[in-house]
Amino acid sequence: MKISRRSFLKLTGAAAAASALAGAGFPGRAAAAEQIRVHYAREIPTICTFCGVGCSIICSVKDGIVINTEGDPDNPINEGALCSKGSSLYNISYIYDAKGRPKPNPNRLTRPLYRAPGSDRWEPKSWDWMYEEIIKRIKETRDSSFETADENGVTVNRTQKIAWLGSAFCTNEENYLFNKMARAMGVINIDHCARL
Ligand code: SF4
Repeated sequence: MKISRRSFLKLTGAAAAASALAGAGFPGRAAAAEQIRVHYAREIPTICTFCGVGCSIICSVKDGIVINTEGDPDNPINEGALCSKGSSLYNISYIYDAKGRPKPNPNRLTRPLYRAPGSDRWEPKSWDWMYEEIIKRIKETRDSSFETADENGVTVNRTQKIAWLGSAFCTNEENYLFNKMARAMGVINIDHCARL
């Protein structure tokens, strides 16, 4: 259907009038306006952890379920705006079926998965197993590649076979500690996904 500029303005004007009537308490229309998802939801402010910008997000929670997330207009960092990642934050935990009912997102990772070298499948593992394996591999790699001096005899005390990547899911303080730990092991290839 082709909509002219004039008919578009008429249409949006009618929608605004309907909304104003609903707000004024007209029966029927008011009921339709009040069916919004966040009605009576508890609002909890949080910070988006997807990148280092640190946008502020308001989580609307009902019956223990995050039913909506939106940018916080009072926060000076993002002033209510969110990028596509921040806008879809609530889908991490829950998605909605065709009737608009929330259900747990089956794609959410809730436990560590391990894929062995050469394997084509991921196996669930415990956190204890994961930590042991990570520690063991870091130590083996670090000890077998540690250099005390470079080719000119300059003391370097480093390993170049480990790279360390910080995470925007961590706080500044956590990333500071990761950086210290990596440098204490002699890791010199250190970076972060939010290199601002
Ligand atoms: S991922 Fe997007 S919404 Fe989240 S902090 Fe970064 S810019 Fe903001």
